[in-house]
Amino acid sequence: MDFKTLYGPVRSGRLGLSLGVDLLGKRICSMDCLYCEVGPTLAHTLQRLPYTPAKVVLEELSSWREQKLPTPEHITLGGLGEPCLNSDLPEIIVGARKLFPDVPVAVLTNSTLLCDPDVRRELAFAQVVLPSLDTLVEREFLAINRPCRGVVLSQIAVGLLDFRREYAGAINLEILLLQNINDTRENLALQKDFIAKLRPDRVDVVTMTRPGSSPLAKAADPQTLAAWREALKPVARLTKAPGQIQPRFAAETISKVAASELILNSLRRRPQTPDDLAAAIGVKNAQVRMVIDELLFQELIVPAKDFGDDFYRAVL
Ligand code: SF4
Repeated sequence: MDFKTLYGPVRSGRLGLSLGVDLLGKRICSMDCLYCEVGPTLAHTLQRLPYTPAKVVLEELSSWREQKLPTPEHITLGGLGEPCLNSDLPEIIVGARKLFPDVPVAVLTNSTLLCDPDVRRELAFAQVVLPSLDTLVEREFLAINRPCRGVVLSQIAVGLLDFRREYAGAINLEILLLQNINDTRENLALQKDFIAKLRPDRVDVVTMTRPGSSPLAKAADPQTLAAWREALKPVARLTKAPGQIQPRFAAETISKVAASELILNSLRRRPQTPDDLAAAIGVKNAQVRMVIDELLFQELIVPAKDFGDDFYRAVL
């Protein structure tokens, strides 16, 4: 089966081996972040629709299970935009949990819809929610996240606190810092107070590790990241990136065609190096390189050397 909504598994710093599910199908988001690794937002909206219908997602997950493809550590709803914009979200979460009862469902969100009680109720079906909140300073928010009309920073903060009160699962907050944009003392002081109220299960202070959508996006330096983590320690459980988790399948079971499909699907959602791909999919590095050479020849992928490393991305 040629998967349209599933990608990966990818090795995620926050979730280990993660099977991604794209709930949008296109670049549809309520934000247009400078650092977005899937490129500029094309439909900038808060409108909820079944962009990728539950039926399509669940058929693909069912096929993934039947083909005995890698069992991930998490099934992660995200993709080419904000997953909570998909109005089939509750059916997708519940269906995924039925198909993979031993694999927790995680949802990545930019938090913009958490002020909607319906969205909070739907998200409650997931075992892990990973909201992001890069800044609590209005001018920084507009500069880094470039929200669409109707998104209000103060409402996001209230929505997150309401969600914490209502939700029994794990909330893993992410703060992504960009140099000279939101790595300020003002933001740090506000985040410290906010996190003390929110009481997330985990806080990840991170920066870009892959090419972003704008040349204005520059990674924060390691000293700044270390200083933020230190400053937030008293109010948050700050987690280091998980170590090497071994994929739960044998590499020999992956045919060349299946490896090629997995790699192409994965690169459609996120630029990666051959080493990233080999570790996530569990095939030998040499096999990944052979597939990459073929995909380059077919002009289905291109190098993305923005970070000076050997990253590749799919031609969308
Ligand atoms: S990083 Fe996330 S929230 Fe920001 S534009 Fe990309 S998909 Fe949307």
